[in-house]
Amino acid sequence: ADDFTPIHRSFEAQAARQPEKVLFHLPDGGTLTYAETEHTVRRIAARLLADGVQPGDRVAAQVQKSPEALALYLATLRVGGVFLPLNTAYTGTEMDYFIGDAEPRVLVCSPEREQEHAARGGEQLIVETLGTAGDGTLLTSETTVEESYAAAADTPASILYTSGTTGRSKGAVLTHGNLASNCRALLEAWQYTDQDRLIHALPIFHIHGLFVAANMTLVAGASFHWLPSFDAEAILDLMPTSTVLMGVPTFYTRLLASARLTPETCASMRLFVSGSAPLLASDHEAFEAATGHAILERYGMTETGMNTTNPYDGARKPGTVGKPFPGVQIRVTDRESGAALPDGEVGLVEVKGPNVFAGYWRMPEKTAAEFRSDGFFITGDLGRIDEDGYLCIVGRDKDLVISGGYNVYPKEIEERIDALEGVAESAVIGVPHPDFGETVVAVVVPQAGAALEPEQILAGIREDLARFKQPRAVKIVKALPRNVMGKVQKAELRKQYADLFAPA
Ligand code: ATP
Ligand code: MG
Repeated sequence: ADDFTPIHRSFEAQAARQPEKVLFHLPDGGTLTYAETEHTVRRIAARLLADGVQPGDRVAAQVQKSPEALALYLATLRVGGVFLPLNTAYTGTEMDYFIGDAEPRVLVCSPEREQEHAARGGEQLIVETLGTAGDGTLLTSETTVEESYAAAADTPASILYTSGTTGRSKGAVLTHGNLASNCRALLEAWQYTDQDRLIHALPIFHIHGLFVAANMTLVAGASFHWLPSFDAEAILDLMPTSTVLMGVPTFYTRLLASARLTPETCASMRLFVSGSAPLLASDHEAFEAATGHAILERYGMTETGMNTTNPYDGARKPGTVGKPFPGVQIRVTDRESGAALPDGEVGLVEVKGPNVFAGYWRMPEKTAAEFRSDGFFITGDLGRIDEDGYLCIVGRDKDLVISGGYNVYPKEIEERIDALEGVAESAVIGVPHPDFGETVVAVVVPQAGAALEPEQILAGIREDLARFKQPRAVKIVKALPRNVMGKVQKAELRKQYADLFAPA
């Protein structure tokens, strides 16, 4: 776009416009202004330049969430580097893969992991440290950097690894244009301004906490209530002085468990957003009943930023992810032929727009395979467009169960099971079966205190579902395996139950 401004430059413009405005409200009551944060950015930038970071060099960060960690992101962009945030939970073996794959010039880690990572990197890798109190080697520079890299729209800004839900994480190369255009679309769609105060309780190594929640706040000139991690009671304490919460579905499930969630607590809140995984329709309804607020669900991914949103003004339909953001195109195509499907039919969700990434890092074949010749990206999700033009995600293509030649969409069965008395949640998977190729297995979590038998579940859904959709086995478990973003790890469940129907 003609009026393209890189994220770091928009932040610098806000720091110049309103230097004394508070950017971070911290849990200990402390604050950091825009000017103070920008000063930290310039000191870190000086350190990165001293380390020899050149435009295009990767700067990896495996650090705890802190204001300085966010400043490191901005400093990397400021010197023209490519920011590579890494999940703090990654082990040594996983870090070997990411470091080997991305070959960063600098890796910033917590002081505790310095020795381990220094041994990992070899001679080219410079290891810097950043502790939660802003301690470590990264913030030792006395000098600051004035200049700021004039990135073009197609200049890489970040390599962001996908969550690894369906296989090995892939590095998505996101450009400055991707980040800026997506941020602008979000600001417009959610009417986000410098009057907003966001409760930021997400990790900042993932698209959601970094390129949605943080970018929007920095670019709008708004403020954060900054929490190191999710904490329902702390969020409830902050709500009376906040306007927006951006969260994953598990945030809402846990908030709903508190008696403090009332319309009064939420009096100054104007927007609750959910994404990164499907929000239970029952949670949507319970939240509205408890607070008077309809949660706004949106849909996106590492490779594309945000694609669709339920409307800010207008009906927010539970079980849908809404309509495309400004500038984004969505279509649904046939799994086999790739032909566009009419509304109502389930197929592959494809997306095109300035939000769509430049490609997978060092994976040209994989990149080519995921794009159509007309530029649409195949998301790997299955969905359909409903009668009002809203997109409904019915699951992931890789989770589709094909049993005896019939397509079974797990979500349809999960919704039936979740509606049964005593069920907290469920996950439906396909496992190998000697006669059907695959067959359906339901993994069910009872509500606290409820006693459930597999036969009750089967009896409860028998009337509503065709035979080929009915689970051949029901497993009652205490909890579903989830990652930090609240995504159910179906691959893990499939592995666990792979031999259920194996011939003896
Ligand atoms: P990987 O690509 O490595 O398997 P991942 O797809 O989980 O991992 P992310 O980019 O973090 O990695 O997640 C994007 C995915 O999350 C989407 O493709 C979609 O399946 C799911 N998702 C995001 N928002 C929603 C939503 N509102 N409803 C349903 N699913 C969602
Ligand atoms: Mg994915």
